[in-house]
Amino acid sequence: MPAVPFDYHAPATLAEAVSLLGSLGEDAKPLAGGQSLLPLLTLRLVRPRAVVDLHRLDELRAVRRDGGTLEVGALVRHRALERGEGPLVLCPLLQEAAALIGNVRVRALGTIGGSLAHADPAAELPAAVRALDGTILVQGAAGARAIPAEEFFAGLLTTALRPDELLTAVRLPLPGPRTGHAVEEFSRRAGDFAIVAAFAVVQLDAAGRVAAARVALAGCGPTPRRLDAVERALVGLAPSEEEIRRVVAHRPLEIEPDSDVHASAAYRRHLAGVLTVRALARAAAGARAFGP
Ligand SMILES: Cc1cc2nc3c(=O)[nH]c(=O)nc-3n(C[C@H](O)[C@H](O)[C@H](O)COP(=O)(O)OP(=O)(O)OC[C@H]3O[C@@H](n4cnc5c(N)ncnc54)[C@H](O)[C@@H]3O)c2cc1C
Repeated sequence: MPAVPFDYHAPATLAEAVSLLGSLGEDAKPLAGGQSLLPLLTLRLVRPRAVVDLHRLDELRAVRRDGGTLEVGALVRHRALERGEGPLVLCPLLQEAAALIGNVRVRALGTIGGSLAHADPAAELPAAVRALDGTILVQGAAGARAIPAEEFFAGLLTTALRPDELLTAVRLPLPGPRTGHAVEEFSRRAGDFAIVAAFAVVQLDAAGRVAAARVALAGCGPTPRRLDAVERALVGLAPSEEEIRRVVAHRPLEIEPDSDVHASAAYRRHLAGVLTVRALARAAAGARAFGP
C-alpha cells in the first residue's frame, strides 16, 4: 500500500529544520534512517501532512568526547555504533547493543536518534542508554533541552519530545576505571526484536567490590526499566555469579511485562531474572579483567 501523500522537506540546517517543525507542528514527522517511519507510512499507521528529512543535517552526525562524556549525534547510524567508529569505541555497551539490532541493512540506515525517538519497548538502544545513565539533547523553536533518559521515555512509543522538537544528540558518561558491561538478549531468531534483553554496567572498587551497578531491561513494560532495588543491593558485595543470583532472586523485579504473541508475561518475568544475572555476572567479570 502506498503512503498517504505528504509534502517533502529536506532542510539544510538544524535551525531551518526546527523552524519548519515549529510551523508545521503535529502535522509533520522527521525522517532519519526510515527503518521505522517508512513501514509506518506505507501501512498508513501514521499519516503526516509533511515529512522533514534530516539527512542534510551534518551537525547531527558528530561524535564528540568532552572530558568524561561522549556526545553522539542523532544521525549516527547503528552500524557506526556497532563498529565502534572513532570515539564510539569508548562506549562498548553501545557497540554490543547496536550489533543486536535487526540485520546489517537495517543497521546501515537506522540511527540512534531515530531509535530513541521511536521508543520501541523491545528496542536495544533506549534500554542501553538507560543503563548508561544517558541524557537526551533536544532542540525546538523555544530552545534546547537536556532530558535525562529516565524522563525521556514516557510510555509505549511515547517520549518527552514535543512535536516541534528534534532529538539532536545523546550525552553519555564515559565508563570509569574497573568498569565492565554486558548485554544479554533472548529473541526467537538472530536479529529479531528482543523478547527480553538485559543491559548491565558494573564498576568495582580497588578491593574488587561493587562500587556502582546499573541494569536496564527491554521487553518488560512500555518503557526500558532500571532495576533500582537490585542495583542498590549489589553495592559493596564481591560480585560472584552466585552472589548476584542470590541478590536478584531476593529483590522484586520492578517490571510490568505484558503477554503477547511472542511470550507470556510470566515467561518474560522469568527471562528478566535469568538475563539480569547473566548480564551482571559478565559485566562484573569484565570489570575484574581491568585489575586492581
Ligand atoms: C527488518 C527490521 C528489523 C528491525 N529490528 C530491530 C531490532 O532488532 N531492534 C531495534 O531496536 N530496532 C529494530 N528495527 C528498527 C530500527 O532500529 C530503526 O532504525 C529505528 O527504530 C529507527 O531509526 P531510524 O533512524 O530508522 O528512524 P526513522 O524510521 O526515520 O524514524 C523513527 C521515528 O523517530 C522519529 N525521529 C527520527 N529521528 C528523529 C530526530 N532526530 N528527532 C526527533 N524525531 C526523530 C521519526 O519521526 C519517527 O517517528 C528494525 C527495523 C526493521 C525494518
